[in-house]
Amino acid sequence: MEERKACVVIGGGFAGMVAARRLQQLGVSVLVLEKSASDGGFGNTVISGGLIHVAWMPPDAPFEDKRRRLAAETDGEIDPGLADVLARESAHIIPWLTEEGIVMRPKTDEPAARWTLWPFRSGGGRRLLPELGPAVAMSRLYANFREAGGTMVQGATACALDRAASGWRVGYRTQAGERECAAACVLVADGGFQANSEMLSRYVGPNAGMCLLRATTTGTGDGLHLLMAAGAGATGLGRVYGHLVSATALESDELWPFPHLDEFCMKAALVTRGGDLFPVTTRTPVGLVTRLARTEDPRGFSVVFDHRLWSASASAGVLGLPVANPDLVKRGGHLVSSSTLAGLAAEIGADPRRLSIAVDGHNAIAESSAVADPPFYAARVVPGITFTMGGARIGPDARVLDPDGIPIVGLYAAGSTTGGIHGGPNGGYVGGLGVAATFGYIAGGSIAGRAARS
Ligand SMILES: Cc1cc2nc3c(=O)[nH]c(=O)nc-3n(C[C@H](O)[C@H](O)[C@H](O)COP(=O)(O)OP(=O)(O)OC[C@H]3O[C@@H](n4cnc5c(N)ncnc54)[C@H](O)[C@@H]3O)c2cc1C
Repeated sequence: MEERKACVVIGGGFAGMVAARRLQQLGVSVLVLEKSASDGGFGNTVISGGLIHVAWMPPDAPFEDKRRRLAAETDGEIDPGLADVLARESAHIIPWLTEEGIVMRPKTDEPAARWTLWPFRSGGGRRLLPELGPAVAMSRLYANFREAGGTMVQGATACALDRAASGWRVGYRTQAGERECAAACVLVADGGFQANSEMLSRYVGPNAGMCLLRATTTGTGDGLHLLMAAGAGATGLGRVYGHLVSATALESDELWPFPHLDEFCMKAALVTRGGDLFPVTTRTPVGLVTRLARTEDPRGFSVVFDHRLWSASASAGVLGLPVANPDLVKRGGHLVSSSTLAGLAAEIGADPRRLSIAVDGHNAIAESSAVADPPFYAARVVPGITFTMGGARIGPDARVLDPDGIPIVGLYAAGSTTGGIHGGPNGGYVGGLGVAATFGYIAGGSIAGRAARS
């Protein structure tokens, strides 16, 4: 006999597990399908920095402050209905997570760091560290779900979504073969398409797949693919969230996710492989990541700066994260120096004349940090993509919408697989964990409401 549940959750990450736990609490039968076999899954949540914020404000900040900040960060591009509900419902997530036994503490004095998953991640290499806060939090949610009798299949990749007589049928692959489950509702929470170079090429830029994947490998866009085939609309697909990291990160896991070189790329002279100046026209490094990801040669950039900027940058980051000076050198990242610009050009294989013109052009920009005080330095950089900002269109109740904005009965989405939240011309990022937990919480309530009515 075919398996049947009230709800199937695709993806046991933060959004998926908050929703699954809430559904359990509200008496709804749920099956979680999780691609990874690891305890806690292997989405971005487990390797994240663990700062839970809403547009850089604590989730328990006043509604009006969060709402204003969401609009400001995204230059007004956030969907107003999603902004309202995110600002309002995020107030529930800290008490709810605390009730689940998840420990959060202030990491620094920054408001965005007030509720950080504890023990804190230090900013070391990509390694999954099961003893640190983000992984501990996910293990806690898995344990709570199982202890309350929840059904989860790990090592299960959802690969089909079809309409069925009274809802949907989800097909999934396991090592044991293909299986399926029918459900009135399906929540897609598979974390985005940053690990799918074909989708990056299609939606972000022809060579965006050449960027560094500053994320786990599970975000292959399966959910978005299934939802679009089922008639869902999509929004904001051309933008990504990420940081500029050493190009050495392409071959060494020690160089990502930190230290990043955002500050250098924003203030100093960013040059192409040939040595020409690349004009930085966005207000934030996140916006710059998308711009570089859209170029023909995302791996061809170097940032050129002088001794003054390098020395000034040798201080702890505001969010308690490692900084390039000294971590870039300590971890073996590319960095060359010379007492002359011609010498530096030779070090990076650029044309000395073009590099000299680039530096003159850069130094003529009033607000830039002039490259003037030798020795001069160059570091090869690459845009590192953490997650895709765009995704499935959803409404304020997490229901999936078709391209005309009409809800598709029984389909829901939450977390980084959705669009309409982050974005804007300057790469407005409003916090991945806060969005995932809040929309997971909303989706759980919304699906339970529908189950109660049917
Ligand atoms: C290095 C790094 C640092 C970060 N730091 C922060 C931070 O400090 N604060 C912050 O707010 N955000 C941070 N983020 C972003 C944040 O981690 C994400 O936005 C958030 O975790 C997304 O949650 P999610 O539940 O949508 O997806 P995920 O946590 O990625 O979960 C998705 C799950 O779906 C599973 N899955 C995928 N495809 C399938 C399929 N076909 N079938 C079944 N399962 C599937 C995956 O295995 C995964 O477990 C960081 C991210 C990274 C990579």
